[in-house]
Amino acid sequence: MSDVNPYQSLRTQIDEAAQYLDVADGQIERLKTPERVLETNLSVEMDDGSIEVFRAYRSQFNGDRGPYKGGIRYHPGVTRDEVKALSGWMVYKTATSDIPLGGGKGGIVIDPSDYSEAELERITRAFAEELTPLIGVDRDVPAPDVNTGQREMNWIKDTYETIENTTEPGVITGKDISSGGSEGRVEATGRSTVVAASEAFEYLGKDLEGATVAVQGYGNAGWIAAKLIYEMGANVVAVSDSSGGIYREESFDPVAVKEFKRETGSVVGYPDADRELTNDELLTLDVDLLVPAALENAIDEQLAPDIAADVISEAANGPITPAADEILREEDVLVVPDILANAGGVVVSYFEWVQNRQRFYWSEDRVNEELDETIVDQFQTLIDAYESRDLPSLRIAAYVVALERVIDAGEEAGTWP
Ligand code: NAD
Repeated sequence: MSDVNPYQSLRTQIDEAAQYLDVADGQIERLKTPERVLETNLSVEMDDGSIEVFRAYRSQFNGDRGPYKGGIRYHPGVTRDEVKALSGWMVYKTATSDIPLGGGKGGIVIDPSDYSEAELERITRAFAEELTPLIGVDRDVPAPDVNTGQREMNWIKDTYETIENTTEPGVITGKDISSGGSEGRVEATGRSTVVAASEAFEYLGKDLEGATVAVQGYGNAGWIAAKLIYEMGANVVAVSDSSGGIYREESFDPVAVKEFKRETGSVVGYPDADRELTNDELLTLDVDLLVPAALENAIDEQLAPDIAADVISEAANGPITPAADEILREEDVLVVPDILANAGGVVVSYFEWVQNRQRFYWSEDRVNEELDETIVDQFQTLIDAYESRDLPSLRIAAYVVALERVIDAGEEAGTWP
């Protein structure tokens, strides 16, 4: 895994796409720079009475198309630049999916496994208090990301509503159903990754039935992608998490592997595996589909020449560095970019926000149908741009389409003062 600065990767991706657009340099700089970044230090009492300080960020990148939108990550590797990059990717993801939202992202520098649930609640509520003046249903709407989920979202919502003396479930998405969450939200990211992969297979004239699949990262995004693609008839031959990977020629049953990971903490050691493998070995397997679903920079320029998959559907944000992307392009690997492939999370977050505002809730079938339609339609939009404008990759096509949408909204609003 490379240590390429993800914010630099985002800037490179925008520069690459900007070559195909007629935009002034100042305008492009604006599209590469967050509007504001909150950096705060949370002082929180631990169970033993001591005080610990946690650095936390919230980046509001661009709000031209609607309220800032994006998750909150708990990870020891969170940095200011990582949060800036993730918030920018959200801008271009909401634009690629054509939903009326901007982009933001937050994070706390923490390994949550080192803390009790009560400590995590106090840390989350301390962050929510700092966020309260910045967020709001029409201002900035956070969501889950790595190591956060419904529990943290419910704490943030409750803290916000208590301070503001209101009920406003749409201030955050990814909530539990009983707190105003949406059906289908937990599965949405894995689902869009698989729907996008299936469109890519159809585009290439390849059959998904019987195709071999490797999934790196077995958290929310990765395990759901594995489960859904298995249900569509593909063979999930390799999966991994931060402890390592496992291989089974005949396909794993993803639900059984998930159950094993829930009980033991890792996929490694799963009894039905043929053998164990490292994450790099998993990424370079000769499979039809590779789904990176862990963190940024999983595939760098050292690893890229060894990638043997035909299609990559990016469940993670930024799993391929720009230099690696160029190599994969030359080797004709079809990469479905993160800003479409994993957009399911934010698309269903948008549906959750709509339902919260209307106080009217949809069935799971309706959520899934509307999500599938969004991903299929926007995949086609990217293919049209890729072919008709002779663009070098689907990623550049996605950025070209998204940048045009953000620029149009910005121009409509004008510059003030
Ligand atoms: P998660 O915390 O549920 O799971 C992350 C998984 O990755 C875990 O299984 C972990 O063990 C594994 N992992 C961590 N480091 C690894 C490494 N070096 N090698 C292999 N595996 C490793 O997180 P998630 O919500 O599934 O998010 C995963 C990715 O998907 C992130 O890039 C996130 O930004 C992106 N994403 C998530 C959502 C969402 O709705 N959850 C939406 C869009 C994008």
